[in-house]
Amino acid sequence: MEELRRLIRNVPDFPHKGIQFKDITTLVKDGKAFAKVIDLFDQRYRDKRVDIIVGVESRGFIFGGALAYKWGVGFVPVRKPGKLPAEKIREEYELEYGTDALEIHTDAIQPGQRVLIIDDLLATGGTLAATARLVERLGGTVVGIAFLIELAFLNGREKIKQYDCYSIVQYHAEEEK
Ligand code: AMP
Repeated sequence: MEELRRLIRNVPDFPHKGIQFKDITTLVKDGKAFAKVIDLFDQRYRDKRVDIIVGVESRGFIFGGALAYKWGVGFVPVRKPGKLPAEKIREEYELEYGTDALEIHTDAIQPGQRVLIIDDLLATGGTLAATARLVERLGGTVVGIAFLIELAFLNGREKIKQYDCYSIVQYHAEEEK
């Protein structure tokens, strides 16, 4: 786990002053580390009878796609507004300033399907909470929400506490100074 943490690049003041950006490109270009992340997600959720994986644009696609291949299950992208071509539904969520939104195709999930949601990072939790609402509006059951990185000091888990959540690397307030 320490090795995975070491491979995540911290970029201060990106994309805005005061943000410590957690760059995962330095981790996923290392084949062993990338595989380790997928293996940890696999171990944590392999017994949950997952039918389909939902990945959140865009870094959720990297991990979600690899895990879907490993399990031989389908992959569904949740995307920023205006990217999906067919009939879709939308959920808005609060940002620090204003709102943002995510979309999913209406035929992406069948009622009763067991869904694992994947993203790279949990910050305030707005993105993953909105994704869970999209899945549930289509009748899917969220069996878990997994992310490589958790910014624990932002308490994002509070917004998704009703779900079985899992993170691999956690950051605490004192490390962010
Ligand atoms: P949130 O909705 O606040 O939980 O934000 C989560 C989304 O924003 C994820 O898809 C992350 O990729 C991205 N994000 C937020 N904060 C950071 C950060 N410090 N470093 C890298 N990505 C971030």
